[in-house]
Amino acid sequence: MEFEVQPTETPVEAQARAEVLAAPAFGRVFTDHMVSARWTREQGWHDARLVPYAPLQVDPASVVLHYGQEVFEGLKAYRQPDGGVAMFRPDRNARRLNLSCRRLALPELPEEDFVAACELLVRTDAAWVPDGEGASLYLRPFMFADEVGLGVRPSESARFLVIASPAGNYFSGPLRPVSLWLSQEYARAAPGGTGAAKTGGNYAASLVAQQEAIENGCDQVVFLDAVERRWVEELGGMNLFLVLDDGTLVTPSLTGSILEGITRDSVITLARELGHAVEERKVDVDEWRKGATDGRVVEVFACGTAAVITPVGALRWPGGEAVAGDGQPGPVTTRLRNALLDLQYGRSADTHGWVRRVL
Ligand SMILES: *Cc1c(COP(=O)(O)O)cnc(C)c1O
Repeated sequence: MEFEVQPTETPVEAQARAEVLAAPAFGRVFTDHMVSARWTREQGWHDARLVPYAPLQVDPASVVLHYGQEVFEGLKAYRQPDGGVAMFRPDRNARRLNLSCRRLALPELPEEDFVAACELLVRTDAAWVPDGEGASLYLRPFMFADEVGLGVRPSESARFLVIASPAGNYFSGPLRPVSLWLSQEYARAAPGGTGAAKTGGNYAASLVAQQEAIENGCDQVVFLDAVERRWVEELGGMNLFLVLDDGTLVTPSLTGSILEGITRDSVITLARELGHAVEERKVDVDEWRKGATDGRVVEVFACGTAAVITPVGALRWPGGEAVAGDGQPGPVTTRLRNALLDLQYGRSADTHGWVRRVL
């Protein structure tokens, strides 16, 4: 894919940009540019451009607005110690986008085009990459069906875009454990459904459960499997790990209804290198509840690109609560979080080939 570059004539002024970068809120302000490409059944991918960030013109009868045929990705660009910029494992996002596309009957995008689109945007808007601990430029590649018509069938045309937003820490303030609400009524994903695809519909379906979590004084919701309501799956947008008293890490296996997090995969690799056994298997919610009480489960953490590794404090359900360890960020959680951040911010050697320098 060749990108035609059309830079903005009215970039945000340096002073205004500096103010945003000093205290970025998640996903509120976007950089000067975006990447855009079009697909039609007849022409394939074409019309690839870097253009000024601007609203889109979308026909009211576009398929995505009615039937939700859409997928997205999330990755970050990090300021490096020498002032350069690097992305973390963008090839994995490229691969996952295509997995999602296959499930949502959207066209696949060549992996090298996905990475090139992200790189072009980061390079062009490199002045928007914040420095400072925990800060980064969050990239949001996404694809949606834009054929006009209300007939229910896969769209014959689609658009792919990448936008970017400077980000601070996902959960504001100093690192503190999040509390989780165990949803009784709602499921995020079911066997045969779209749980393994990164698609907006999964998020739409999680919102009332998330609302319920907030009403019950919790930060996030944790979903159980849809069939037995017994096996721990994940949060609305993060994967979960338990740390056992012998140092073993346990995370729910990828059953088809869980999103395969790239952070999850990185944590598994790093934990094994640090000498931990890692088990990917079914996790009974009672293993968590009982284990938190009897001392078998000593730490719990959630992980994902946006929030990196976030310690979990209390797990709550109607009439009950379980807290692993002392409810504070535990040593294993903290060590893994630092190991991951050190790689992303270029403070430790990239022995896995995960870091892709852009500048
Ligand atoms: C994106 C996402 C994750 C985390 O994936 P990362 O690649 O680690 O950012 C976990 N669960 C869901 C449902 C997601 O959409």
